[in-house]
Parts: sequence; C-alpha cells; structure tokens
Amino acid sequence: MSERRLSGLSRAEQEGALRRCQADYDAAKARLAHVGFLCEGSLAEIYTCCRNPNCRCADPARRHGPYFQLTWKEAGKTMSRRLSAQEADLYRQWIANRRQLESVIRQMQAVSRRVGEYLLADMGRPFQGPTRPRPGRRSDV
Ligand SMILES: [Zn+2]
Repeated sequence: MSERRLSGLSRAEQEGALRRCQADYDAAKARLAHVGFLCEGSLAEIYTCCRNPNCRCADPARRHGPYFQLTWKEAGKTMSRRLSAQEADLYRQWIANRRQLESVIRQMQAVSRRVGEYLLADMGRPFQGPTRPRPGRRSDV
C-alpha cells in the first residue's frame, strides 16, 4: 500500500489524482456541448471626428458614433467590416462564445498535461510536452 511510485505518489494517491483529472476533463467536455455559434476576430466600438471645426465632434466627448467594427485575420491579412448595432450584438455574443470555447480548451490542455505528468513519471519518462500554452498566439485579431 505504501509503495511509492516514480511520480512521488502512492498508487492510491495517484489513482485519486487521476480520478480528479478525469472528473475535471469530463466537466470541461460537458461545457463544450453548450457552446453556441462562434466568430473569429474582435469587435471595436469606434467614435470619430469629421474634422469640421464647427461640428459638435470638435469636442472629444461628443464624437460621432459609436460605430461597430469587426476585425479578423484572413490568410495573414487583417480584415474589417463595419456592422450595424444589431449585427454587433450578434457578433459580440459569438465572439464571447469563441472565447469561452478557447478557455475550455485551455482547461482540457492543462488537465491533459497533469495526466501526462502522472502517467509518464511512472514509466520513468518525465513528461516532455508543453508546460503551458504558447504565448502570443492570439487568434482573435
Ligand atoms: Zn463631426
């Protein structure tokens, strides 16, 4: 019973840890089932100035707008499109859905990493995979 394994945990401790990982993973997978429609990119609210010195927009607090602009990457190019307020409401939700999905995927990666560490340590093979998600690879611009 007190047999120490290479992961530093007893068999019972390791089985408990793996069960918790499996439960966390199953919970994340269940959240995937509820993700709604998705949209890449990001949404900006833009206020502009028409440069007419007699217009109200000469006051920075009274600029024209808001205008809504969706921006995304397509084949390495930044694309953007002006949206109506109604369209912006829709895309705002779809972008939030995508960010939620990305967050669930990051959780699944983190749990998988923990499982890899437990299992591979026991094989005498320290986990060699990524220690954290790669930085600077935001897909929403
Ligand atoms: Zn103006």
